[in-house]
Amino acid sequence: NTFADIDLGEAVNENIRRCKYVKPTPVQRHAIPISLAGRDLMACAQTGSGKTAAFCFPIISGIMRGQFPRPPRPRMAFPLALILSPTRELSCQIHDEAKKFSYQTGVRVVVAYGGAPINQQLRELERGVHILVATPGRLVDLLERARVSLQMIRYLALDEADRMLDMGFEPQIRKIVQQMDMPPPGVRQTMLFSATFPKEIQIFYPLISFWPSEGSA
Ligand code: AMP
Repeated sequence: NTFADIDLGEAVNENIRRCKYVKPTPVQRHAIPISLAGRDLMACAQTGSGKTAAFCFPIISGIMRGQFPRPPRPRMAFPLALILSPTRELSCQIHDEAKKFSYQTGVRVVVAYGGAPINQQLRELERGVHILVATPGRLVDLLERARVSLQMIRYLALDEADRMLDMGFEPQIRKIVQQMDMPPPGVRQTMLFSATFPKEIQIFYPLISFWPSEGSA
């Protein structure tokens, strides 16, 4: 039960060593193999459980294994992975960790959150993005301005899903979910992390392959 037993690739393993992580935490031990196998997952995880690494490691490793497509249009960003989180603080924390984990891999991580000027974030997006960390409101703004497309998303991580609902992001989440219709199996992978599972969490079910989508069951 060490990270060496999990096939994340040499570059990610080197960064794990740099972070001085020796043993995977329980959520990492369970979630990372499922994710590397290409399956969707829902996990109950609190702050401090190591959930950020649990979704970042397989995303970075997966992007490195695939091609790194160049953005087809310079003014519109086509991230390969989207990490949605409820607050600016959490998004910045995830961004910082994801940058450490992707050090010297060529994988570029950009963060976009509300309550701050959008211009700097737009410039960062124009420089290219593989992993976008965003809060729901700012992401909808970027989608409406046609500055981000979700067409190429291969990995979707929803962090603190219950808190996104508590904070009233339901309308924004609805818009984001609508833009991500169910792709053929194996094309996009969803990882949903939440501390609690109230029934409102069903708003995310259309993004999860093992859950029957509305009208299909
Ligand atoms: P999180 O639950 O993602 O907010 O992580 C909580 C803290 O645990 C962060 O400071 C991480 O850097 C740290 N951490 C995550 N995974 C590990 C691990 N496998 N070993 C030691 N520390 C870790």
